[in-house]
Formats: sequence, C-alpha cells, structure tokens
Amino acid sequence: MSDLKLFVENIASADPKAYGVYPDSINTYNDGNAYAFMAEVDGVTKLIATCPCLGVKGERKDGYILCDLTHENAIALRNQFPFTAPRPVLREERSFGVGDRLGIACPGHIKVFEKYDAMPVFAQQSIRELDLTNRTYEDVLDCVTFAVFRDGFKRGFGADGDHLKRAQDVEYALGLGFSMITLDCSEHIVGGVDEMSEEKINAAYKADKTIEELYLGKKFDIGEGIELEFTMDELKKIVIIYGKAIDFAVEIYTKYFADGKFKADFEVSIDETATPTTPLQHFFVANELTRRGVKPATVAPRFCGEFQKGIDYIGDIAQFEKEMTVHSAIARFFGYKISVHSGSDKFSVFPIVGEKNRQVYHVKTAGTNWLEAMRVVAKVDPTLYRAIHKYALTAFDEATKYYHVTTDLTKIADVDTLTDEQLPELFNQNDARQLIHITYGLILNLKNEDGSFTFKDKLYKLWKDYEGEYSAALVNHIGRHLELLGCPKL
Ligand code: ZN
Repeated sequence: MSDLKLFVENIASADPKAYGVYPDSINTYNDGNAYAFMAEVDGVTKLIATCPCLGVKGERKDGYILCDLTHENAIALRNQFPFTAPRPVLREERSFGVGDRLGIACPGHIKVFEKYDAMPVFAQQSIRELDLTNRTYEDVLDCVTFAVFRDGFKRGFGADGDHLKRAQDVEYALGLGFSMITLDCSEHIVGGVDEMSEEKINAAYKADKTIEELYLGKKFDIGEGIELEFTMDELKKIVIIYGKAIDFAVEIYTKYFADGKFKADFEVSIDETATPTTPLQHFFVANELTRRGVKPATVAPRFCGEFQKGIDYIGDIAQFEKEMTVHSAIARFFGYKISVHSGSDKFSVFPIVGEKNRQVYHVKTAGTNWLEAMRVVAKVDPTLYRAIHKYALTAFDEATKYYHVTTDLTKIADVDTLTDEQLPELFNQNDARQLIHITYGLILNLKNEDGSFTFKDKLYKLWKDYEGEYSAALVNHIGRHLELLGCPKL
C-alpha cells in the first residue's frame, strides 16, 4: 500500500505533511465525496484526485489518480475550482501586476497578497517575454492555476495579456480566459512631431471639422480645479501623434470587448514612446476613446522622466508629482484607473502614485521578480552566479535590442574580485541590476554544444531547492513596493 493510498483513506485524520501533501491544497468536489490535492511525489509536484469526475488525466492508482501538472489538468482545475481561474480585477480599487517570467514566483507572490489589500495579477506577460522565455500563455496561466491551488489562495487573481500589438494575440489571450489585455498602441503613435516644421505639420494634419469644433475655443473642466484648453497648434500635433492609435484602440475594443462576450478588462497603453504623454494629450485620447464608445478599465500614459527597467525613477520628482496630479484627475473624470508600467523598483515616486490616485491604481512589475530569483542564485551558488554574470556581460549588446537602458557596464565590479558574500550586493547596484535584468532570455536559452541548456536546468533545480528563500525575497521586495504605494494591509 503506497503512502498516498494511506493518506487518502485517512484524509480526515492524517497529517498531510507526513505524506508530502500540501495542506492548503486539499479541496473537495463531487458534493464533498471526492478530494483533490497536491503532493511532492519522488521530488516532483503532482496533482492527486480521488474521483475521475474531476476530468483530469493521469495514472490510475489504487483509490486515486496521480496527475502531472499539464495544461489539460489545469483546465480541469479551473473548471471545478473557480478560484484557480483568472477573473477581471482592474475595476477593483487597487491592482498590482507581478510578471513571473519563470513560472516559479507565484508562491512568493501569494504570500505578499495574503497581506496587502490589492488584487494581484499573477499571470502577466508580453509577447516579447513569451518569445524570450520560450513560454506560451497556456503555460503562464497554468503555472498560476497550480500555484494558487497548491497554496489555497482564494481571493482571486487576474491574468494580463500584456503589451499586445496584434488582433490575433488579443484573441489568443482572451480565448484562454485571460481576464485583461493591455493593448499596446505604440506602433500607431507618430513620434518626432515636436521637431516637425510648420509645413510638415500642416501637411500631416488632416483637417477634421468635428474634432476642431469639439476641442477649439473651449475650456474643459475636469473638476478638482483643473481646466484644460487646446490651441490650434496643439490640437494639430495631438491629432497627428495619436489619431491612428485611437483608431486602433477603437477597432480592437469594438471587435472583442464591446459585446461583453469575454469577461475581461481593457487597458490602453500609450507608454512605449520616446516622449512623455502630456496631460493635454492624455485628456484628448481619453475623451476620444469615450466619445467613440470605448470604456477602458485602465490607461497607461508615458510619464515624464524615465521608467527604466528594474531600477528607481530617473527624473524630476516635483514635475512628476505635478503631472500625476492632472493624469490622475483625468482618469477619475473618465472613470478608469491610471496604470503605471515598468513599476519595478520605482520607490521614490510610489508615495506620489498612491496619494495622487487616492489609493486607486494599477501598477505593473515584471523584471524585478526575475532579479530577486537571480539574487537567490548569487547567495546560494556563487560559482554558478559568476558564470552567468560573465556570460551576461558578453550578451548585453544583443539584449539592448529589446530593452532601452542606460547601463554603464564599466561601473559593475568584476565578479572575480568580489567575495562570495559580496555577490548578492550586486543587486543593489543599478548597472548590475540592468545587466542581469535585460539578458534573461539569452541566459535561459543558452545551450551547450550537445544541445543541453547551459544554465536553465541548473537554475530551475536551484530555485526548487530554495523555494523558501525566493518566497521570502519576494515578500520583502514586492512588499516594499506596496508599502511605499501606501497600500492598506488586509
Ligand atoms: Zn508598458
């Protein structure tokens, strides 16, 4: 008789931990007559079901079915246990995205959101991140489903098809049950307009009577003592810059969201541009979206200053505060939330984000979760870390094709001169952070001559062995984000 059989037979009285069973994963179904739970079986995490009516596929044992963590079995869990499926969360006061590029961060994230009163978006990846990590949206979502089931997280969570640029990607994410999509309009935003000559602007501007009548010679009172007005010159520029992007957002919204067929939120992102979104531009975009029937749950402007990956805000904080005051008022006026992208480690502006938005916001982080995973590597396996670090230095140039950073590699200490104890401190230095931040895809995909992965398998083994350390690091680090935002505790 196997141990699990004994556990299943005595489930009401047996100590789960003695059988490698995750105590918080024990759930009943089939009117309370059947059990599903997760356990470590020979070093591998498995799903166990006592009745086939759960719809899972696995190995039939005496009294239970032993299942791998497959996509099919994740679907079965989502069907049976709604808390393991994503739901729209952007309409809640506070929501917070934690992109988990590795598919292993969720247990740590769960611990964070057991404490803070913000709804988590546990599954959040862009197509760029999917490509760089060789993952699929199925896999991104399934990892979260199994994690919330294993640890009994029942508050609910969102899943974000992040920075989608094509209708087919929107359809892909929504079809899998993702509960929000972030439409990246950047390819339809015209850059360099401030540098255009008057002739060029006049040539590019297609006069539109309706727009001119709507916007010129008026003051727009958005409340809170804020009035906005457009000059002809400003209006022309704004129409040139955002006209096509607005058309694109209207097209996608009309096609996938207007009829409410998918239970999902719509975020409009205009943040991946070279120049900041001025409050006046933000107002125009919001007003046009509203006028044309689009109801975004969140809008992500590009704020002044720099929101570089994985490091604190660079720029004029007073200016940021002034502009956030108006951006947040515009969002309130139109009834959506401000979404702050590249929110990893923006500690110096979080108090302003929280306060100006009156504790109503969406913030996204991604890379910082990967950096914390690598900090753990530096702590527990200095030899492996040094090898990865040296490889990252050689791969850095290639990685800058995907990410804009101002990293100065000469400022990073030579890992051979640092003691083992000093290695984790690299993660407190911006240049070292960005080096590791943007090279994740190359690090994970590097292969030996025989086709095996150089680092990937070793890393995943290490992260499994040190799950507790990684969790603790995330609780601390993501917790600091929420703390500085002023997020209430549960
Ligand atoms: Zn963005």
